[in-house]
Amino acid sequence: MSNKSYVVGFPRIGEQRELKKVLEKYWSKECSFEEVNECAKELRKRHWNYQKNAEIGHISCNDFSLYDNMLDTAIMLNAVPKRFQHLSNQEQYFAMARGNKEYVAMQMTKWFNTNYHYIVPELSLDDEYRLNASKIINEYQEAKALGINPKINIIGPLTFLGLSKRIDNEDRFELFGKILAVYKELLTTLSKLDSNIIVQIDEPFLVKDNSSAVLSLIKPAYDALCSVASNLKLIVTTYFEHSNEATKILVNTPIYGLGLDFLYGEKNLDVLQIIALSGKKLIAGVIDGRNIWKCDLEKSHVLLECIANSVPKENIIVSTSCSLLHTPFTLKYEKTMKAEIKNWLAYAVEKLDEVALLNDYFHEGYTHLSSEQKEAFQNNQKANELRKSSPLIHDKNVQNRLTSFTKTKRDGEFKERIVLQKKRLQYNDLATTTIGSFPQTPEVRQARRDFKNKLISQETYEQKMKTYIDDCVAFQEECGLDVLVHGEPERNDMVEYFGEQLNGFGFSQNGWVQSYGSRCVKPPFIYGDVSRPKAMTVEWITYAQQQTNKIMKGMLTGPVTILNWSFVRNDLPREQVSQQIAVALSDEVDDLQQAGIQIIQVDEAAFKEGYPLRKANIKTYEQWAVRDFKISVSSAKKETQIHTHMCYSQFNDIIQTIEAMDADVISIETARSGNELLKIFKKVGYKQEVGPGVYDIHSPRIPSVDEIVTQIDALLEVLPKEQLWINPDCGLKTRKWEEVKPSLQNMVKAVEIIRKRG
Ligand code: GLN
Ligand code: ZN
Repeated sequence: MSNKSYVVGFPRIGEQRELKKVLEKYWSKECSFEEVNECAKELRKRHWNYQKNAEIGHISCNDFSLYDNMLDTAIMLNAVPKRFQHLSNQEQYFAMARGNKEYVAMQMTKWFNTNYHYIVPELSLDDEYRLNASKIINEYQEAKALGINPKINIIGPLTFLGLSKRIDNEDRFELFGKILAVYKELLTTLSKLDSNIIVQIDEPFLVKDNSSAVLSLIKPAYDALCSVASNLKLIVTTYFEHSNEATKILVNTPIYGLGLDFLYGEKNLDVLQIIALSGKKLIAGVIDGRNIWKCDLEKSHVLLECIANSVPKENIIVSTSCSLLHTPFTLKYEKTMKAEIKNWLAYAVEKLDEVALLNDYFHEGYTHLSSEQKEAFQNNQKANELRKSSPLIHDKNVQNRLTSFTKTKRDGEFKERIVLQKKRLQYNDLATTTIGSFPQTPEVRQARRDFKNKLISQETYEQKMKTYIDDCVAFQEECGLDVLVHGEPERNDMVEYFGEQLNGFGFSQNGWVQSYGSRCVKPPFIYGDVSRPKAMTVEWITYAQQQTNKIMKGMLTGPVTILNWSFVRNDLPREQVSQQIAVALSDEVDDLQQAGIQIIQVDEAAFKEGYPLRKANIKTYEQWAVRDFKISVSSAKKETQIHTHMCYSQFNDIIQTIEAMDADVISIETARSGNELLKIFKKVGYKQEVGPGVYDIHSPRIPSVDEIVTQIDALLEVLPKEQLWINPDCGLKTRKWEEVKPSLQNMVKAVEIIRKRG
């Protein structure tokens, strides 16, 4: 019998976002918890059946979650922060995830370099961990009842600890012994479920540059876990990068197999000999779990054969590179997409067929494939050939422009530019502004929807948007803000808005991917060479500028952010795609300044998000990311002021890079950290101007004038007033006018008080 195919994990939100819908119904008290559970059970069944029908050999259970797997793991260990301990089970779970009236939610953060976010466990030395395996056991038995013999997915102890935080900020690995004891108990419990049990232990933390202290825990952990029962087969799985330091240790433990990502962790190829010698199974992640493109089966086959040069074929199991959580569900609902483009894509359900077919091809050989499989293989090859040669992808003009593009930075040094800008713009010290968007009211959303669905004319639509802009401008003038924005009513999303107007971008109807909890995003996909057929923002911004004598800031999304929040073509290096976007944006910057716009903000909200997981790759990323930001503003004249904006992040390790971007002003989301994040700007002698958020917009609370004065004073301890701008944090579009108006009024009053004080 040949080897069975393998899928690391499957998305759970539902192909029509069923889980999202039922959860949100439950949270707004419109349905019972039983209804949530029924829906969840139905979804698990459907997802298992998809995999069963595709003849996937190793199907997971416990990859499902009502909110998040890290949160589930915390519950499994009883790692519940004190403030939630008194709550009943089901109340506790969602309170930990989302907070409740009394207590703030646990922190949420990015899952490695994906756009999925997990709940960060809060640990403390006096925690009492104890096993709660009920969720895992239930899911296992549910699958069994459907005739599936599932592997059991769990997050490994090192990853759990590595991604947690200690409430006293001390080393969380001090809790290793206590946590490991519960994991041993868990495995003992699981071993009793059946005569043979496979457990997939996800340890993606091992793809980071880990200290020797962390690496030294691998062997004791896996020696101990393997020793609990002889009928257990443990597979340690990593993804998103290579994990060679860990692999070298793991081969000397009694684990059954290693799951490695050969697409995003090419260096894993360097340790194949060691794996071969160990005789362990190699779960070879060769089908992309993070992208939407059909694989090239022949190319994947070549990769597998290359692996098989070192590792015996019978030890190789064909798998996805990571959980399919990071891809949309199924192409079934894509009804409006161009057929030619749709034929290049594979979502999670379609990837199942790829894994199964590739597995048979690899293990049994082409001649042993069924005629149906042969046809599928031929179709795959044909689709890939058509994609390669499609005129939709290749644009000679873009390619020529890129090779002849020489203006890679703007004229003049900051020192010279800022003098010209201050003279022209005449703004005060502590100039007040906002980050761009204003509340997206139900009327605005409705108008955009109606226009898209052709229910209202272009004229009516534009009138509605202009009315919104008028109101925005009137409020900002009344409030006394120094630099105004138009409010972004025409934008549904800061990336999608630009993608829709650029050549080379595609959109799905149902390409939802879970971002966190019940929330999904539908990223655009970049399939071809990118160019800008015409100006994208000039009409709106100039209209807004005409309504006021104050300065109106133009608003664009930067190249790196557009890239990081899209599915990107895999037939060109990312940095080339990014450069194409940058060149297109440089034309927009020029058009805006030609139209009389004097300040242009180029948002790089996701700049930090794109950072590689391994230090060794950071330099290369920074080089092209900075290059492309600079290209996008290279057309700006010296007297045009360029702003950029970044969301909440640690700037300490990237401050030099921010400096190198050479924006005249950067606004950053900082309110939650007081003046802490700002200190690094002082430390390195940062010269350009900075706008730290002075209040946290995520809270419905309206900050008082006094509070903001105190906050600005704290900022002034770090940077002089000549270098500071005053603005709120980003995200006003998610708030209500009732909150935004008084808050901004208080912000302006606070600045007036400080200015008067002198
Ligand atoms: N200009 C955007 C806005 O204000 C920036 C969004 C962001 O920071 N993510 O909505
Ligand atoms: Zn932001």
